[in-house]
Amino acid sequence: MEDRTSRLAALDKAHLWHPFTQMRDWTAPGHEPLILTGGRGVILRDSRGREYIDGNSSIWTNIHGHGHPVLVEAIRRQLDQVAHVSFLGSSNEPAILLGERLVGLLPDSGLTRVFYSDDGSTAIEVALKMTLQYWQLAGHSERNRFVAFDRAYHGDTVGAASLGGVGAFFDRFSAIQFSPIRVGGLPELEAMTGEESSHVAAVVIEPCVQGTAGIRVWPEGMLAALRAWCDERGVLLILDEVFTGFGRTGRMFACEHEGVVPDFLCLAKGLTGGMMPLAATLTTERIYEAFLGEYEELKSFFYGHSYSANPLGCAAALASLEIFESERVLDSLEGKIHCLREGLADLAASPYVAETRQCGLIAGIALRRGPVAPCDWRDQTGARVCVAARKYGLLTRPILDVVTFIPPLCISASQIQASLGAIAKAIYEILEP
Ligand SMILES: *Cc1c(COP(=O)(O)O)cnc(C)c1O
Repeated sequence: MEDRTSRLAALDKAHLWHPFTQMRDWTAPGHEPLILTGGRGVILRDSRGREYIDGNSSIWTNIHGHGHPVLVEAIRRQLDQVAHVSFLGSSNEPAILLGERLVGLLPDSGLTRVFYSDDGSTAIEVALKMTLQYWQLAGHSERNRFVAFDRAYHGDTVGAASLGGVGAFFDRFSAIQFSPIRVGGLPELEAMTGEESSHVAAVVIEPCVQGTAGIRVWPEGMLAALRAWCDERGVLLILDEVFTGFGRTGRMFACEHEGVVPDFLCLAKGLTGGMMPLAATLTTERIYEAFLGEYEELKSFFYGHSYSANPLGCAAALASLEIFESERVLDSLEGKIHCLREGLADLAASPYVAETRQCGLIAGIALRRGPVAPCDWRDQTGARVCVAARKYGLLTRPILDVVTFIPPLCISASQIQASLGAIAKAIYEILEP
């Protein structure tokens, strides 16, 4: 007698291939894949009826919790109208209204043009191609290099992956990737000669915090100094706010912490509140106008996807921005960020915690085997701690030996405390000899 979960698990193992997953471990006889069947607010339920706090916002996408009635209703209403129409040669109402709202989020920024695509990687691809074409149209085709940072992550499509600085993910594909100018931080940029920087088209950065690098927080002031460097050298600035956008860092966008306005702002993950895949690349009239011309000049931006500006996604994104206002979401964050900071300070006292790092409602807890013993990444300590945390009601993911905690913004203070409690118990269970 097989129950439904066992049957689904067997089928999953037989036919599916999961991202960022060693499938030999996944399909091992002792491993039952977690099959998620429902969600309300910050709580997710699995096929065996167990409940968890969604401690990684369903891979950093969820903002207002699962099943938020305003989001669900907005998608339903759009579904009654039309689910999808082409954005090549026609437009649609939610995409138009969302464009106005997005541009309004950063008034006086000069970011007045919105180009839609599907996910974070494509939001970056768009920015890269627009940048290159812009410099060609502006008569500076020598500006054809990108600057990217050590341990950066900008997505997995070939262009976005070229910028990536996580060797384990990207090195084996170097034959089909371009080489950015790789730097560790500002000092290397400042040391760059004028000749070298005259070939730089744009700098690409995850502002304030590098997520996939293991929640690596940039020094305060770095972003503003980077903007100044770009201005001095005539270089464009591409901000990848795919992860940091939509309140995650305590402000609507991370760049607001340092009063920085980029030339391109890439948005995805939280754009729809975590309901649908949708991305937007915002840019300025200066960039946009360079692409205008006679048809035969071929200045058009030849780029797009089948599902560009999907009306369901745009309707969800509009509803998500409405919730930001009606629930005063940004005003609610300060107390939660403070609660997270206090909880992390307690965790940091553990002999098995090397360091805790935080940016807004984003946290990383770096593990160690003991006061002077780092973890060996091959032991998968972070992963084992996260699996153990499930027993205590928390679902989250590690990045190597960093346990991440990145909850939906609607999480309550007591749920933050419960989550950190679950992590503390799991750390003890796995690391205490
Ligand atoms: C997740 C992520 C991406 C890629 O987004 P996808 O939707 O997974 O393609 C790009 N940049 C950053 C900073 C991210 O965290």
